[in-house]
Amino acid sequence: MSTGKWTDYINPAVQNMPPSGIRRFFDLAAEMEGVISLGVGEPDFATPWHIRESCIYSLHRGRTSYTSNQGLPELREEIARYLAGQGAVYDPRRELLVTVGVSEALDLALRTVIQPGDEVIIPTPCYVSYIPCTTLAGGVPVTVATRLEDNFRLTADRLEAAITPRTKALLLCYPNNPTGAVMDRQSLLAIAEVVAKHDLLVISDEIYDRLTYTGRHTCFAALPGMRDRTILLNGFSKAYAMTGWRLGYAAAHPDFIAAMTKIHQYTMLCAPITAQVAALEALRHGQSAMEQMVAQYNRRRRLVLQGFKEIGLPCFEPGGAFYAFPYIGHTGLSAAEFAENLLREEKVAVIPGDVFGPGGEQCIRCSYASSVDDLTEAVKRMGRFIKNRTAG
Ligand code: PLP
Repeated sequence: MSTGKWTDYINPAVQNMPPSGIRRFFDLAAEMEGVISLGVGEPDFATPWHIRESCIYSLHRGRTSYTSNQGLPELREEIARYLAGQGAVYDPRRELLVTVGVSEALDLALRTVIQPGDEVIIPTPCYVSYIPCTTLAGGVPVTVATRLEDNFRLTADRLEAAITPRTKALLLCYPNNPTGAVMDRQSLLAIAEVVAKHDLLVISDEIYDRLTYTGRHTCFAALPGMRDRTILLNGFSKAYAMTGWRLGYAAAHPDFIAAMTKIHQYTMLCAPITAQVAALEALRHGQSAMEQMVAQYNRRRRLVLQGFKEIGLPCFEPGGAFYAFPYIGHTGLSAAEFAENLLREEKVAVIPGDVFGPGGEQCIRCSYASSVDDLTEAVKRMGRFIKNRTAG
C-alpha cells in the first residue's frame, strides 16, 4: 500500500478511520478453503421469485428512468400503509423518503441533524457503521455499553447517565445487530421518557423489525410523543432478502424529510427505479414469502441455541434479527483470539464481539442465516474447539 504524499490529500477524518473489523475476517476466511461462515449479516435466500419477476417485467416495459427524488408515489403510499399498521402514521407526500438502503437513510439522518461537536448516544455493541458515520457527519459518538445481564437492552438509567448538554440524538437499533436483542414496549417507554425529558432526537434503525421471534416488534415512533422527534429508518434488505437491491426509507416529520431530501437530491437524485418497483411488489405481495423465511430463521435460531447449550457456550436468547451473541469469556481467550483460532483450527468464521464496540469484548457474533447443515456442522466444530481449550 502506498504511503506516499497522496495520503496528505486525504481528509484526516477518512484517513484515520479504522477499516471495518468484519472485513478483516472476511479477507482471512477468503484465503482458506472449506470455511463455514457464520460471519455475514445477510440472508442466505435469494429474493423471492415474484419480486424479481416484477422487476424483470418492468424493465421489459422500459421502466428505466429516474423517479421523483422522494421515490415512486405508489411505493411511498404502500410504505405509509405498512407503517400505519405498526401504529406510526405518516403522510406519504411529505413524511417519507425512499433511499439507497438504510445505509443512505442513516447517513442522511446524521448529516441532516448533526452540527460539529454534537453528541450522539450509541448503545453498543452496535452495527459497525454507526460510529464512523457519526464521526463523518461531524458528530461525537458517545457509546453506552449494554450488558449481558440486561440481555443487551438499553436501560433508562444508563441512557440518562450518558446525557450531557451537547447530546443531540440517540441512535437505536432493535431488533439489534449484533446481539439479536429486542426491546419490549415497557422498556422502550422508559427510554422514551428520558428522551422527552432531555428533548433529544431519536434515529431508530428498525431494519430487522420483521425478524422477531419472541413477541411483536414495537415501533419507536409509535410510542406516545415520539413520532415527531424520531427519524425512523427501515428497508427491504433483511425482511425480503433484498440486500443487493439497495433500497430503504426514512419516515419522519416533514421538516426532517425536506432537509434530508435536499442532500439526497444532490447526491443520489433518487433510489434506482428497478429496486423501487421490486420493493412495491414486496410490500404488496411478499408477506407469505417473507413469513416463510422468518420461520426458517426461527428454526435455525432454536437449533443454534440448543447446539450452543450442548457444547457449553452460554448464550442469552436473541429475540430478533438473525444473530446469536454467545459468551466466550470462560475459554480464557479474547474475542479476537477466539475468532482467529476458531477460523484457523476449525474453519468456522465468526465475528469477534469487540468489533461492534464496548460491551462485546467477551462475545462473538454468529449469524444463523445459513443452511441447517452448515449450522449443525459449525456447532460441532465449535464444540470440538471449546473442548480442546477447556479440557485439562
Ligand atoms: N442497519 C443495520 C442494523 C444493519 O445490520 C444493516 C446491514 O447489515 C444496515 C443497516 C444496512 O442496511 P441496507 O442494506 O438497507 O443499507
